[in-house]
Amino acid sequence: MPLLELKHISRSFPHAKGTLPVIEDLSFTVEEGEFVAVVGPSGCGKSTMLRIINGLMEPTSGQVLYKGKQVDGINLECALVFQSFALMPWLSVKANIELGLEARGVAPNEREKRASVYIDKVGLDGFEEAYPRELSGGMKQRVGLARALAVEPQLLLMDEPFSALDALTAITLREELLDLWQDKTMPVHNIIMVTHIIEEAVELADRILVLSTGPGRLVADLKVELPRPRDRRKEGFNALTDKVFSLIEERA
Ligand code: ADP
Ligand code: MG
Repeated sequence: MPLLELKHISRSFPHAKGTLPVIEDLSFTVEEGEFVAVVGPSGCGKSTMLRIINGLMEPTSGQVLYKGKQVDGINLECALVFQSFALMPWLSVKANIELGLEARGVAPNEREKRASVYIDKVGLDGFEEAYPRELSGGMKQRVGLARALAVEPQLLLMDEPFSALDALTAITLREELLDLWQDKTMPVHNIIMVTHIIEEAVELADRILVLSTGPGRLVADLKVELPRPRDRRKEGFNALTDKVFSLIEERA
């Protein structure tokens, strides 16, 4: 049984001239253990798709199955990481990380324990009591990542998580994310990452889903066979990057 199955998902929004179709007939599956990247032009419904997967939003039609069951309300086995970090400026690092746990009814002593475990995992030791304004972009996203990991999701959803960071910080965080995903002691086994950085998708993912311009439709589902660690100096990297680029261009 696949971990996740999207079956003929469509979503539209009310619009001045009727309705605006944003996603059209989107179907794909994610197998246990996979790292899937989703690329496509801005506005093709990628963020909407993530919201539908974690149950924050309902599709207009179609079904989302998680471990064979239809998603009904928020899926507690998922957690989201946002491009904008989405931290509460008036809360410390530790309190920001505990927030998601509080919302899920985790007891205070357990919250504290888990926050400290994941602060350690993302390399934020010593910054427990700092406030977001005191942190660099990279550190803010470490907080965003720790907050998501602390709820111990099986499926981590990431919405352009490294797009707001400088290139060098992004390189480091990508490597660390791969280490966390490959760490067998971590509860997170699956990642779906939306990105518009094609090289990021090729570097990280097992599969790349390419969406067309709005309304978003699946135009390609590519398996990435390159051995890890990957980088653009290795054979096959640029060829695959070019292929994804041309697929997006053709449909834009
Ligand atoms: P992407 O993440 O691929 O850039 P989004 O999923 O954010 O695309 O948005 C796709 C389109 O859907 C945009 O045109 C956006 O304005 C519209 N949209 C998204 N959410 C809403 C909403 N809650 N109400 C109305 N329109 C929305
Ligand atoms: Mg988006």
